[in-house]
Order: sequence, then C-alpha cells, then structure tokens
Amino acid sequence: MFRVPVGEDWMALQKEPSFRESVDLMFNRAVAMMDLPPGLEEKIRVCNATYTVRFGVRLRGQIQTFTGYRAVHSEHMEPVKGGIRYAPSVNQDEVEALAALMTYKCALVETPFGGSKGGLCIDPRQYDEHELELITRRFAYELAKRDLIHPSQNVPAPDMGTGEREMAWMADQYARMNTTDINARACVTGKPLNAGGISGRVEATGRGVEYALQEFFRHPEDIAKAGLAGTLDGKRVIVQGLGNVGYHAAKFLQEDDGCLITGIIERDGALFNPEGLNVGAVHDWIVKHGGVTGFPDANHSAEGAAVLEEECDILIPAALEGVINTENAARIRAPLIIEAANGPVTAGADDILRKKGTVIIPDMYANAGGVTVSYFEWVKNLSHIRFGRMQRRQEEARHELIVRELERLSEHLGDAWSMTPDFKSKYLRGAGELELVRSGLDDTMRIAYQSMREVWHDREDVGDLRVAAYLVSIDRVAASYRAKGL
Ligand code: NAD
Repeated sequence: MFRVPVGEDWMALQKEPSFRESVDLMFNRAVAMMDLPPGLEEKIRVCNATYTVRFGVRLRGQIQTFTGYRAVHSEHMEPVKGGIRYAPSVNQDEVEALAALMTYKCALVETPFGGSKGGLCIDPRQYDEHELELITRRFAYELAKRDLIHPSQNVPAPDMGTGEREMAWMADQYARMNTTDINARACVTGKPLNAGGISGRVEATGRGVEYALQEFFRHPEDIAKAGLAGTLDGKRVIVQGLGNVGYHAAKFLQEDDGCLITGIIERDGALFNPEGLNVGAVHDWIVKHGGVTGFPDANHSAEGAAVLEEECDILIPAALEGVINTENAARIRAPLIIEAANGPVTAGADDILRKKGTVIIPDMYANAGGVTVSYFEWVKNLSHIRFGRMQRRQEEARHELIVRELERLSEHLGDAWSMTPDFKSKYLRGAGELELVRSGLDDTMRIAYQSMREVWHDREDVGDLRVAAYLVSIDRVAASYRAKGL
C-alpha cells in the first residue's frame, strides 16, 4: 500500500505533492502526534468511494460528453456534505482531496456531516445559460440516481464555478425524480431564497473569513505570533480571486473592519494600490469587462501571481489550490495567511512558511462559513419553517415592555436619562433569519477557533494552527467511529 510520508518528509516525494498528497501529508503530520490504532488511522485517511460518470448532452447539433465525479470521503456521519465545482481542471485526485478536507472541516465546526465533494470537467464560461441548465440537470440526474444527491445521504452545495442558479436546477431535478419526498428541498444547499434557500448563504464563506479574522484579532498572543499588533483597522490585505468567497471577504473587511485592500489578483493579472482599492468598484469592473485589466486608479501587473509576494499584513488566497508552493513560498512576505480557498498552500510550502514563522489560518477552519450556513439551510428545509418566524414578534413585544417602562422612569429623571432613538429602534427589532444566521455563524467561527487555539497553546509539540485543527477534527471523527463500534 502506498503511503505518503509524514510531515517534513514531503521532500521524499521529490516533487511538489499533488493536492491529495498534500492533504494526506498534513493529516499524517497530525496523526503522528496522536495515539490512534493504525487501523483506525488508515480508515479515517482513505476516501471511501469515488463515483465517476460520463454522460452525453445534445448541444449545438451534436452530442457532447462530459466527465463528472462525486467522492465520499467519510460516512461516520450522514448525510455527507460538500460542494460541486465546475472547472476544466477537475479530476479525481482533486475531488478526493476536497472531500477529505470536508470531513475534517465539518468535524472542526461541529456540523453533523461526513465529507464529500464533486466536480464536473467543464469551463462554464463556454456555455450559455440554457446549455448549462441542460448539462447541470443531466449531471444531477446521474448523481441522484445513485443517491449521491439525497437529503439524508449526500447534500451538495456551490463551489468554484457554481452558485445559486446551479443549486436550484439540481434541487428541482431531484424533486422531479422524487415527487413524494416532502424533504426534497434539503437535497442541496446554497439555493436561492425563493427556492428553499436561506438568508446569508451567498456571502457566508466570505463572512466566515471575516469572523475568523475578527476572532484571531481578539487574542493579543496570537496577533503577536504573526508579528502584528493592534486591530484589523488599517491592516493591508492582498486577495487572490474576487469570486464568491474573495469578493465577500474583501468587501466585509473593507466596509466593517477598516482594512485596506491593497492588492487584488485575478486570472488576467493583478491590481495594486498602497492607498487601498475600492472592492465594490473592482467587482463591478470585472462583471462588466470580464477581468481586472483596464481598471483605473491602480497599477496593473500582468504577472498576477507575483503580487502574492508583495508586502502586506494579511494574504487571502481565495481562488484555487496550490498557488503557494515550494517555488514561491520563500518569497511570500505576508506574516499572516488566511486560506479562504481550499488547499492554496501545498504541504511543501506549508513547511517552508512554518519555518519562517508565518502564521497560517488553515482552510478547514477559514472557509467553513459556507458549510456552517449550509447546515442551517438544511435544518430549515427539514423543519419547513423560516428561522425566527415563531419568536420574532414575541421578542419585540417583550422588548417593547422594557422600553415603555424605561421611558416611564426617565420621565421623572429628565431628558439626560432618555434613550437615544438609535438604541430604541435597534433594541425593539426582533431577530429575523439573517440576524440569526449571522449570530450562528459568528458563534461557530469563534468556538471552532478557540478549540484550535487551545491545542496550539496548550501542547508544546504543536507549533501551528493547521496541525491543531487536524488534531481537533481527527479526534472527533475517531470518537465518532469508536462510538459506532468500528
Ligand atoms: P468562484 O468561482 O466564485 O471564484 C473564483 C475566483 O478566482 C474567480 O473570480 C476567478 O476568476 C478567480 N481565479 C481563478 N483562477 C485564478 C488564478 N489563477 N489567479 C487568480 N484568480 C483566479 O469560486 P469560489 O466559490 O469563490 O471558490 C473559491 C475557493 O473557495 C475554492 O477553493 C473553493 O473550493 C473555496 N470555497 C468555496 C466555498 C463557497 O461557498 N463558494 C466554500 C468553501 C470553500
């Protein structure tokens, strides 16, 4: 049996590890610090099953064949959960690596799912909307036929190249095939609000990246480990990939936390402005022109990836895997990297960066906001009721009672004691679905960070957040297998 080497032995591979090898190397580095029976260790590491499908769709007068995958890494909890990605580079190695990360991610943020991931080898920009619908429905049909889309077995979500639109088609395809299933809408998450989605899902992963950084900056010891000081306000940030995750993360960090987005890297090059870029304006430019080229008020560099190496306080790779590798790791100057994308730092680069003292907030935590809000959406679909529908007005009525009483008291105390109108209107408003989703996401991101950091600080042999994250999550997956009697 082939086993990738442990930890720093990535050099033994004598090449840049593949994405799956990187995940396995990182897993091995953590399990070497644990006391798991070798059989259980192996059981957790391996990907349980990968289904490959090739199907034809009649397009533009001829049949085109597409290849898709759905990997199921671990079924210690069901359903299994994980996105579906549309990209020409999708392959089995990649979906298996992503499925494994989903297992560890779900365990870390305590969502009750096993890990899965899917992908279709396609460049979605080459097809119009109608063609994409035909392709997506056919892919969904192939997966649903084998319970690889199913509310209690396997629940996909959006990933690179897919979004609400594709999820709505998949949900509808499943519902057409299962006309009496009352829980059909829970078969995928990330749907539009009017098709069973939940408020706050579109931006959830980016919002989660923001909450992760806010939590990191609540701990002065952790900030000091990255050689930084102070708060998020004024920190210089470079973002790679202004898609769903990168755009929302950058926008929220700029609008809510006072960060300066000094660099934005896209497929066609990078924009750089030490005074800070307007994220909304860059996003609008990309939507209109298909890339960053020509954007005014910034320096444009055609060699986008080189901007990863520019000086900044926080680097956010939010595009794709393997972008920080053994070739460029030594030149990365950011003291803090938050992995908004899955697997942006290879195992070899991780080793180089750790030795340099770079602090990395790992993917399995950093981008878990998506699966967290997907979990809320799934629960909403199964309970058939919007969050807050029962409590909101009752909560408002109770607040109204307090406000009236305070107003009565302040009449005797004079104007200086009266409430400000802003406080009054904010306090009187009961929490709707969006407020509850944000609160649940914030809570999840804080608790998961604290569980990692406890291991990071308490164990002398743990020198970084990634290995801490793996230790927490593998321990939870192992406990779940043990409880089942495996
Ligand atoms: P997306 O397709 O919306 O955006 C990806 C962006 O990266 C696009 O703007 C694209 O132009 C850009 N890009 C692609 N190749 C690039 C390159 N070589 N250099 C610079 N930019 C490049 O995808 P997304 O949903 O934002 O996903 C991005 C990453 O986040 C992926 O790794 C994905 O697995 C991960 N992720 C996504 C979610 C989610 O909810 N969407 C959840 C967890 C993790």
